[in-house]
Amino acid sequence: MLINWRALKNRMSPRAEFLGKLRCNIGTRSLWERHRGLILATAAVVSLQSVLIVWLILQRSRLKRAERSLRDSEERMSLAAEAANLGMWVWDVGRDEVWTTNKGRALFGFAPDTRLDNAALISRVHPEDRAARDLAIRRAIETQGKYAMEYRVLLPDGTQRWIDARGHCIDVGDPKGTRLLGVSMDVTAQKEAQDRFRLVVEASPNGIVLVNARGHIVLVNACVEKLFGYGREELIGQGIELLVPERFRGEYPANGAGFHAESAARAIGAGLELFARRKDGTEFPVEIGSSPIQSQGTQVLNVIVDISERKQAEAEALQHREEIAYLSRVAIMGEMAGSLAHELNQPLGAIVTNAGAGLRFLERDSLSGEKLRELLQDIAADGRRASDVIRTVKGMGRKEEGTRQLLDLNDVIAELVRLTRSDALVHDCTVLTWLHPAVPKVEANLVQLQEVFLNLILNAFEASKEVPRVRRRVIIRTERDGDGAIRASVRDFGTGLPADKPERVFDRFFSTKREGMGIGLFIARAIVVAHGGTLYAENAEGGGAHFWLRLPASKEIGV
Ligand code: ADP
Repeated sequence: MLINWRALKNRMSPRAEFLGKLRCNIGTRSLWERHRGLILATAAVVSLQSVLIVWLILQRSRLKRAERSLRDSEERMSLAAEAANLGMWVWDVGRDEVWTTNKGRALFGFAPDTRLDNAALISRVHPEDRAARDLAIRRAIETQGKYAMEYRVLLPDGTQRWIDARGHCIDVGDPKGTRLLGVSMDVTAQKEAQDRFRLVVEASPNGIVLVNARGHIVLVNACVEKLFGYGREELIGQGIELLVPERFRGEYPANGAGFHAESAARAIGAGLELFARRKDGTEFPVEIGSSPIQSQGTQVLNVIVDISERKQAEAEALQHREEIAYLSRVAIMGEMAGSLAHELNQPLGAIVTNAGAGLRFLERDSLSGEKLRELLQDIAADGRRASDVIRTVKGMGRKEEGTRQLLDLNDVIAELVRLTRSDALVHDCTVLTWLHPAVPKVEANLVQLQEVFLNLILNAFEASKEVPRVRRRVIIRTERDGDGAIRASVRDFGTGLPADKPERVFDRFFSTKREGMGIGLFIARAIVVAHGGTLYAENAEGGGAHFWLRLPASKEIGV
């Protein structure tokens, strides 16, 4: 088909005309020359876009890495917190949203998917602790600082637990974005143990002072307040030297200058006896037992026992013992003097009698040589006895135990009966001896054994004074006892022993006599006991006293 261009051209619009012209120009210039600006602008845009895309890709991967490491570190933190039995939490204060680990939720008794805010947490805090917790949190937010406190949580089922919560504010540069981050721990068991410890400490009848490593008092009980006269608040934080007099400070386990490991070691286990000082400055004796406690550093728990009464009693007992020792020395001296006089009286009296008899024989001119020999022999024997007595008493004065020898008790008794014949006459008493012919020998000190029998015999004479003459008999007996021992007894028919407690006669200073010292039987028993024997007394059937003496037979020689 043929186009009529001219007719068409005439019918064309001005735009078509412009395009036609353009087509003609293209045909004459290059594309670059014609669109350089446009091309440059397009290239710039494209390269900018590429850079932007690369940057965005880099940013994205960096963000992903950061997110991954954040997730990792959060997981690690959560894991560590779970392992340490800690509940981790973050409180977005502005949005009032609380995020916490499952452990944290469990501490407050919340299910894992419950939405938590501050009000929800407060609802679980023990009503008595809410105000204090609130204040602590508000302070931390205001100061952008830390938060640490212990409070109780009360669960819907009534369970109460102690929580130790610590946290701090994270500054995100915008007050609205404040976040509080922290951990909570169940410290119920510790709290209960502390409460029990406090109860025990408080209930202790002794003073308890807990001292830290710097020698400062951390805890005291009621007893310490009573002992020292200080109020608790006056003591806490003070150096322990407040309670220790200056001269003892070096010995004390801990003082203001520091903790004394050496002194503490001495005080630990073995109690230290020293003096303590009250608030009014007075001092009193104490015994301190210390033991270290590893809690918040080394601390020393001191148990302080007031030993004033014990010391007083000890002093009194010592004084009493000294008095008794003095009295008994005096009494023994008196007793020794008495028995010395008594024993010397016998031989001296016999010497005088024999000498008198000799003189009378001489006057009558009837002194045969035989008689003279007899008299002189008796005088010599009595003289020897007197010197023996003096020697023995001198020995006793020098606190010598006296030598022991093998003795036949029958001989000892027979000799004493002979020696006390004049006393028997004075008291109008008949002395009977029923001596077993074959008693084993005893190993004893002669003078001491004589002392025992002399006492028993003279007491028997004196007790017979009060009864009619026909009853005044003293029976001395020896016999063999079981185990090869020897039993001897002195029995009288006199007034008898105290009916309620016959054994009282052996008490030191017990005497019913006007001039008695009440020491003779005490010494007699001591002598018998020192010889491994026993001496006891009873009221005899038919009246009078019966004294029994048992001595072990000598192992060296039998019968
Ligand atoms: P003393 O003879 O100095 O009183 P003793 O110790 O020898 O001291 O005796 C203590 C007391 O025991 C006597 O005072 C007396 O009351 C009582 N006593 C001792 N022997 C007898 C006895 N054979 N019969 C009755 N009482 C006796």
